[in-house]
Amino acid sequence: MPVKSEPEVEQAKPPLMDTSRPALQSQAVILSPPQGRPVTWIKRWPLTIIAFAIGAISLPLSMWQPSKTPIDPLDYTARTKHVLSTTPLIDGHNDLPHLIRIELYGKMCDGTFNFNDKLLGHTDVQRMRKGQMGGQFWSVFVECEEEVGIDDPTWIVRDTLEQIDIARRFIEEYPSVFQYCDTPRCAREAHKAGRIASMIGIEGGHQVGNSLGAIRQMYDLGARYITTTHNCDNAFATAASTVAAGREDKGLTPFGHEYVKEMNRLGMMIDLSHVSHQTMRDVLSVTQAPVIFSHSGAYSVQKHLRHAPDDVLRGIKANGGIVMAVFVNRFLNMKHPEEATIHDVVDHIMHIAEVAGWKHVGVGSDFSGTPAVPIGLEDVSKYPDLVALLMERGATDEQVRMFAGENLLRVWADIERDEGKRFKQQAIKGWATGFANSPFMFRSTRERSKNIKRIAHNFNYPKLLSRKL
Ligand SMILES: [Zn+2]
Repeated sequence: MPVKSEPEVEQAKPPLMDTSRPALQSQAVILSPPQGRPVTWIKRWPLTIIAFAIGAISLPLSMWQPSKTPIDPLDYTARTKHVLSTTPLIDGHNDLPHLIRIELYGKMCDGTFNFNDKLLGHTDVQRMRKGQMGGQFWSVFVECEEEVGIDDPTWIVRDTLEQIDIARRFIEEYPSVFQYCDTPRCAREAHKAGRIASMIGIEGGHQVGNSLGAIRQMYDLGARYITTTHNCDNAFATAASTVAAGREDKGLTPFGHEYVKEMNRLGMMIDLSHVSHQTMRDVLSVTQAPVIFSHSGAYSVQKHLRHAPDDVLRGIKANGGIVMAVFVNRFLNMKHPEEATIHDVVDHIMHIAEVAGWKHVGVGSDFSGTPAVPIGLEDVSKYPDLVALLMERGATDEQVRMFAGENLLRVWADIERDEGKRFKQQAIKGWATGFANSPFMFRSTRERSKNIKRIAHNFNYPKLLSRKL
């Protein structure tokens, strides 16, 4: 969950030196033909020259062959480097676009912001490269509003559109670093091309205005997952924070069932981070597609209500989904958050792997969305340390490959498999309020509006309507 208090972006610095240019120039000098030398001697001993040339080329080439010596199993650094060079490490949740919006008001191009410099927060290009990152789901986040009923109009959808705009512009601003992706195939291609695949996820059902129509448009704008709730209930479901505050866990609403169906049909990932335990169970009981937890942990390891309990982890195994481990201190060590370390994150990962299996675990840091991260996982440069530690705890190369990115790419591809059906169902359901004095197009709407001042068509959940959140 992003915080507003700490400035995370420092002042602009001069651009980094381009060290590649002198090397290219010197190579050009080496490749230039020697000046002022007669060429007639070449004609005199052609065979000798050809033999010499073949020897001169083949000898160094044989020396440049990559070593076939297997990597020492105890050399975790070398194993990590090898695995992450061939499998894209994809983080499920980073809130940097939110910081760009609240700190810089979305202004990235006036010289204040240079992502190539080392910034104050957790995320910049230098450290992403050091962390061998292959992909990032950039979270677009807008706060839940206090004291707003779910039927009240707000600016949250507009703000979410602005947040998507910022994420898209931020990705486009650094084309040699990022590649915008809305398919798993694109993410693999970006990694092969040496770029960091950049995707968009929306952090809260409140951000789509309780509207399935808005969800469809968010999909077309590039969003590939929606966190079903943030720290507030919405028309779809109950949040973990509601239960933590002592209120009833109502799980998924009837309209939430429609949300699940539409997300499945669209091929958009349902994210269960932040939702209540009953919402997790309800979604797992109705979804036809795998689900994700973009930044969560295991409830058995730390009794925080936003973590997945063991029965849900077993449900995730049956569902084919994935729980991506979060790095937020207060979720890792509730009593002494300041003492949270990288080992706490490893404990969550190992537990998820033990209960659900290695096919169902991943990484979702919440970097740049929380000020307090564990000792040993201070920023995006530290992913290799986490992978190496998993190896030290016994994970095989194949298992860490799944953890790093293969699982997420598999889930995403599974969800996309029904893409052909996307436009077969066209039911438009959403949130609307009727007013008796408006020139309604349909007679039945006018009749209904005479009896009910505020109506919500296609939304059969009167108790929730009257409730203030
Ligand atoms: Zn969050």
